[in-house]
Amino acid sequence: VAGTGNHIIIGNSAAALAAVRAIRQSGDSRPIVLISAENCPAYSPVLTTYYIGGQIERKGMFLVDQGFYNRHQVKTLLGRRVLQVDPDRRRIHLNDRTKLEYGDLLIATGASARELDNVDQDAAGLVCTLRTIEDAERIKGLSQGAAEVVVTGAGLVSLQTIKAVLRPGLRITAVVGSDQVLSQQLDRESAGIIQKKLEAGGVEILFGRGIERVVRRGARAEVVTSYGESLPADLVVVGKGVRSNTGLVRGTSIQTRSGIKVDDQMRTTVPDIYAAGDVAEGENQISGESEVIATWFNAGAQGEVAGLNMAGRQVRRSGQLRENVTTLLGVVVATIGQSRPDYGRYEEIRYVDLRRGVIRKFFFDGPALAGALLIGRLYDAGVIRHCIAGGVDLSAWKSVIAAAPLEFGKILSGQGLEWSYSSN
Ligand SMILES: Cc1cc2nc3c(=O)[nH]c(=O)nc-3n(C[C@H](O)[C@H](O)[C@H](O)COP(=O)(O)OP(=O)(O)OC[C@H]3O[C@@H](n4cnc5c(N)ncnc54)[C@H](O)[C@@H]3O)c2cc1C
Repeated sequence: VAGTGNHIIIGNSAAALAAVRAIRQSGDSRPIVLISAENCPAYSPVLTTYYIGGQIERKGMFLVDQGFYNRHQVKTLLGRRVLQVDPDRRRIHLNDRTKLEYGDLLIATGASARELDNVDQDAAGLVCTLRTIEDAERIKGLSQGAAEVVVTGAGLVSLQTIKAVLRPGLRITAVVGSDQVLSQQLDRESAGIIQKKLEAGGVEILFGRGIERVVRRGARAEVVTSYGESLPADLVVVGKGVRSNTGLVRGTSIQTRSGIKVDDQMRTTVPDIYAAGDVAEGENQISGESEVIATWFNAGAQGEVAGLNMAGRQVRRSGQLRENVTTLLGVVVATIGQSRPDYGRYEEIRYVDLRRGVIRKFFFDGPALAGALLIGRLYDAGVIRHCIAGGVDLSAWKSVIAAAPLEFGKILSGQGLEWSYSSN
């Protein structure tokens, strides 16, 4: 039975919105208070690079307007930060010194961009991470007048930002710690396709280097690499990944690792407290490991499961895996589940046509797919995702799966596929 009293949701993004919808769609009419550190309606961080690049206007980043909160009877406290959760007293403490009591609580505080150490204070105004609308405004402003931009890291956010700011006459240098781009998602061969596109677009990539320091030189910054190079920059974009926003549960019995530990009902280790999205750490169905799966889709699906459980339904999340689809410099890239070879563990079935920029790699764990990497040609991606999540036996299709469109109707008929959650 769900707790009595009000619901409190901390956060105002993918996970929080999905929870609100799920609670109300379940017919639960108890009060909901939603608190967010940012003083604006919910928006998508995914769209920030489209705003920076001028493909959408500022208003295009917002997902809902005030009408959404009214219709769902949500009281919002925007521009207020929760400093501490106090499970013993069933309270939360806000930065304006108010305390609120909850019947149940959803922590959907997401993640923050990791910052660069070693930035001199007077250079900090030219150094930006990208996560929030405010970050996007800064990057947009600084990139407009820039002649040289330095980007650290070559993960998805760094490459999306390069794509957004790239224009003739702007010199962009990427300083990358590893020896390839997108090292979290791709193997070297696949990363080579994206690297070539970047270089063809005029981006210089310096691999195997860290950032020693960022200092101020007149109106500009200077980035000093661990190889001793000095790179002048009008804007430095830092892409060092994200860190879950778990600070508000520090010192409590709510267990954390990288994120707040949750079970498959999004329950934390303390009764009536749930967590969902980039702040939550759950089980990766494919690897069996406990990890934060920091994607928009996962945040929404987890938020929905949390909301349904807060409304008293007994719902479990299943099929949780890493996945992403994006277009980088005209190249479409989809990664689903385990998208990098793990030699000795997975059998790799591949179709590679570098001339056409096509790579399709499938990683089998016995008869079932553990993951896939699709570049340049995405057909069947949706069904492939279902096969991965559902553990479908594809042994009969191994010889043809990489190159040709498959008759997935035949594969799937008779296979019971689980949806992203199941009721019990
Ligand atoms: C440039 C960029 C590109 C991306 N591209 C993709 C992509 O292609 N595909 C994909 O799947 N994902 C992508 N992501 C990741 C995706 O945006 C996140 O996975 C998703 O936003 C997570 O949603 P969330 O609800 O967990 O939290 P977040 O979106 O992180 O939102 C957290 C919310 O909590 C609030 N908050 C935080 N701390 C507090 C506090 N103490 N008190 C009150 N409120 C607080 C914040 O104000 C915010 O409203 C991208 C992200 C970025 C930045």
